[in-house]
Amino acid sequence: MPGVNGVASTSDKKADLKIHFIVVGGGIAGLATALALTRVGHSVTVLEKGDGKSNRGRGGIRIPPNMSKVLFHWGLKDMMKEVGLTSHPLLFSQYHTGQLLGVQLWDDELLRETRGEFMLMTHGDLCRILHDAAVSQGAEVRYNARVVEIEPGDGAVKLASGDILRGDIIIGADGESGLCRRLVFGREERVKPSGAVIFDTQFGSQTATQEMSPEEKRLLEKVQGNPVYVAMGNGCGATGYPIAKQQGRDIAFHCFFKGDFPLEGSYEDPPTAKQELLNLLPTQVDPNLYHCAHGAQYVTRVAINIHEDLEDWVHESGRLLVIGQAAHPIAAGGIQVAGMAIEDAAVLGKLYYHLTIPEQASDFLYAFQDLRRQRCADALAGEVSMVSLITMEYGPEQEARDNGMRAKYRAGRNVLEGDDTSGAEGEQWVTIRTIFGYDCEDEADNWWVQWGLLRARADSDGTNRQSKMGAFSWNDVGIVSVDQTTAA
Ligand SMILES: Cc1cc2nc3c(=O)[nH]c(=O)nc-3n(C[C@H](O)[C@H](O)[C@H](O)COP(=O)(O)OP(=O)(O)OC[C@H]3O[C@@H](n4cnc5c(N)ncnc54)[C@H](O)[C@@H]3O)c2cc1C
Repeated sequence: MPGVNGVASTSDKKADLKIHFIVVGGGIAGLATALALTRVGHSVTVLEKGDGKSNRGRGGIRIPPNMSKVLFHWGLKDMMKEVGLTSHPLLFSQYHTGQLLGVQLWDDELLRETRGEFMLMTHGDLCRILHDAAVSQGAEVRYNARVVEIEPGDGAVKLASGDILRGDIIIGADGESGLCRRLVFGREERVKPSGAVIFDTQFGSQTATQEMSPEEKRLLEKVQGNPVYVAMGNGCGATGYPIAKQQGRDIAFHCFFKGDFPLEGSYEDPPTAKQELLNLLPTQVDPNLYHCAHGAQYVTRVAINIHEDLEDWVHESGRLLVIGQAAHPIAAGGIQVAGMAIEDAAVLGKLYYHLTIPEQASDFLYAFQDLRRQRCADALAGEVSMVSLITMEYGPEQEARDNGMRAKYRAGRNVLEGDDTSGAEGEQWVTIRTIFGYDCEDEADNWWVQWGLLRARADSDGTNRQSKMGAFSWNDVGIVSVDQTTAA
């Protein structure tokens, strides 16, 4: 049933065995997980250190089709359409001149194939939609609740206030520098600078247009079709797109620079990096970019760091799983950062719908890792390849790239499609179709049919394994099976 008036659709399918999850971190991954798990009948408490405002960004988020299809399935389409914009064209231009090199259109055929849309909105709006939907399903979201200590084996979490909460399973959605990732590593992570940085900016067109020349205003009007601009420079680049439908046509810009930048800098920092951004802008730059950088209201520098690969996403206790940025950090500014967080949540919802016996609670964490590891690695590789394409240093390779784009543009073809006329598809294009077309919920269903169901049948025969009930006491943590609830 579709969601109405700020309420997510309720799934008719509820888990036979209901358990209590504690989710550390109320960002996109945490809130989406709360929604996915409450939809199938579990009880969830989200603990977020922010106050509900400070942890929501003003900047933009691109919602690719593989992500929007999950959110639509959860009944959130109407709410998303109220605040978000649907984008069709991707415009590639030269960073230094603004000259248009080519267009990529997300056409109806591709979108039908993916069963999603390409949407744009603010980080804050997406968090609000997920929060309201999760709460409507019965999730408890506690703000100003900083987690300072976790005992995964006991399912216990301690807050800065001194309160201790217990759950059956703990989901670590507290980001790439969070406590949960550290716990699962079992040590401090060695993080290295990547040699690149991104400035996350917003440009309020209503304020800015007051000082604009007619030519600049005309340029801004191009944004009416909700395109995403991609400016390709010499070791730098930028993406820009309209956001915030209801507050005027604000524009989000992510500006990338290669160079020697420090490890520090995150979305949580105060948005005071405007001067630093202006100092980095080359003297010859697309007038649109120049104007947006000078008119930007909020500028935050977010470091792009290289993280160690976290081999196991499940803590050795079998009761703590990391997801989202805490499991597989993807560099800021990418299309799939939020996409992978939403897919993680959806897969958890699908798996825990099948919970019938206590042993599965831990098994599903490992199943999650099996299902998600390669997919997230593929998405990360796709992001890296796109950033390399747009920040390519000037030289023969870049000239070939630009000439190829111009030729396709003149021929009325999409710039990311294959180079020749033989019908063979370009590598970039194949990657995009594969990543956009993926259906994480179908994959989780397939896993259940191929593996989960067989194991569950073997378990119900009692032939599969020794019970792990001794690992922790389900009675202590108040698990109630559906049969018991109905009987009561
Ligand atoms: C304030 C903020 C603004 C952002 N703005 C944008 C944006 O404009 N555009 C964009 O593309 N991406 C933005 N991001 C990043 C984006 O949310 C992530 O890249 C990704 O989409 C989702 O990642 P995540 O939920 O796994 O992790 P994160 O987004 O990092 O969320 C982790 C959450 O855990 C909370 N947390 C951390 N430690 C604790 C603790 N000990 N106890 C309790 N809570 C804890 C944090 O406050 C945060 O809300 C922003 C992130 C933050 C935190």
